[in-house]
Amino acid sequence: MQTAIATDYEAVIGLEVHAQLLTATKAFCRCSTQYGAAPNTNVCPVCLGHPGALPVLNRQVVEYTLRMGIATGCTIRPRSRFARKNYFYPDLPKGYQISQYDDPICYGGAVEIELDEGITKRIGITRIHMEEDAGKSIHDLDIDTLVDLNRCGVPLIEIVSEPDIRSPREAALYLQEIRQMVVYLGICDGNMEEGSLRCDANVSVRLRGSDRFGTKTEVKNLNSFRNVEKALAYEIERQIATIERGGTIIQETRMWDAATQQTRPMRTKEFAHDYRYFPEPDLVPVVVSDEWIERVRSHLPELPLARKRRLQHQYGIPAYDAGVLVADRAIAEYFERTCASLPSPTPDRYKLVSNWIMTDVLRVIGERKISIAEFSIAPERLAELVELQATQTINSRIAKELFAEMLSNPASPGKLVAERGVVQVSDTTFIEQLVERALSENPDTIDKWRNGKTNVLGFLVGQVMKYSHGKANPTLVRQQLLERLGTSDGVPG
Ligand code: ADP
Ligand code: ZN
Ligand code: MG
Repeated sequence: MQTAIATDYEAVIGLEVHAQLLTATKAFCRCSTQYGAAPNTNVCPVCLGHPGALPVLNRQVVEYTLRMGIATGCTIRPRSRFARKNYFYPDLPKGYQISQYDDPICYGGAVEIELDEGITKRIGITRIHMEEDAGKSIHDLDIDTLVDLNRCGVPLIEIVSEPDIRSPREAALYLQEIRQMVVYLGICDGNMEEGSLRCDANVSVRLRGSDRFGTKTEVKNLNSFRNVEKALAYEIERQIATIERGGTIIQETRMWDAATQQTRPMRTKEFAHDYRYFPEPDLVPVVVSDEWIERVRSHLPELPLARKRRLQHQYGIPAYDAGVLVADRAIAEYFERTCASLPSPTPDRYKLVSNWIMTDVLRVIGERKISIAEFSIAPERLAELVELQATQTINSRIAKELFAEMLSNPASPGKLVAERGVVQVSDTTFIEQLVERALSENPDTIDKWRNGKTNVLGFLVGQVMKYSHGKANPTLVRQQLLERLGTSDGVPG
């Protein structure tokens, strides 16, 4: 038998993503979903599974699930049911989880991911169903296992993808897209560190060209995009190596261990029948009317990828910029509001706005750990700053200084410019004088220039800027210097 090499294989990946819904109360009782409350305070007979306590479905859970279902182009089942998934765990007091099984509320959709600029791929969505979360077990070595049941009954959606993903990078892009979507839709905070968004990855490998899937493993405990990529890369390599050694892949659940950067077996795969699924007898079917679906559809916000494309076209900014801006809906809005405030909107100004946001604005809100809503420079003021810059009233160095001052000074940039007397000087006679001074104070530069040392130009511009305390218009300075110096070996005059 001929041995294959690693590149002869391809990976097949399907993700199961759990997103915690941003409802104020739990899925089947009126307990608060507040994160970080004192242990076992957000509980009641329903979510603790006391005998005789009856669940009642929170309508908001359906509303939020519909948003994601419709946003991903799923078919919505007019009538779906809940099921009990039975298993034992200390953080599951009822002994079963209320989930959906045979007939999930949403099925058959797709999400588009962008692999490279302009190259997109559709990842099928098998289903999206509603379910409740379990509590948390805290394994404290000094005490014992502690159980906090606050999270019991918190609503989740599970988004199951088709096995359409072919690489760890595609998996990360898909997960990123899902995260952006749920955040845009306002149904989940998307926080992977706090567990509001969790991902299990199913992965198998097969020889390229094969039309059959290999045996898959399911990798759990992937709490960041990096971990998803790293765990999948590890697992793909492990599976290929196993097959190459003549071994077989066991269908099992594995755990990503970030400390050792490896996956390790957790348990052999459980099958659906292990869970003894049966219809939840305490809940009526979930009925969704066409009117409800239409109402949700008509209120959907513009989704991230669509918005990214629109920003590229409408403002003529590069794909990279658009991607950074739409990563956060509020940032995208800040960008658009700033552009809308420009007195004379032009593509070069849009690009300046984008530059300011991508560098200085994001840096400041990152450093201060604040949201854009708390950022002290409102879109209107940033637009004014950009306008001053675009009309060359101030140069970019002064603009940076102004920006820094505007952070703590609420005055308009126009007023600050007037106060500081930093209006850019474009007066030719004034600049001529400074150009002469720069040349006479540095007589050797002329020879250097003639001998092709073109970097003296930058030096001379710098000198003039210094003499003018940064106020001279650098474009004019450069122009005048070039005229004065004439042609060099390196640069035409
Ligand atoms: P299970 O019955 O083990 O839960 P499912 O058919 O429900 O498996 O699929 C669970 C996830 O695994 C889905 O995201 C699906 O796309 C993915 N998946 C199914 N088969 C494979 C495979 N052979 N390789 C990789 N992923 C797979
Ligand atoms: Zn409760
Ligand atoms: Mg399954």
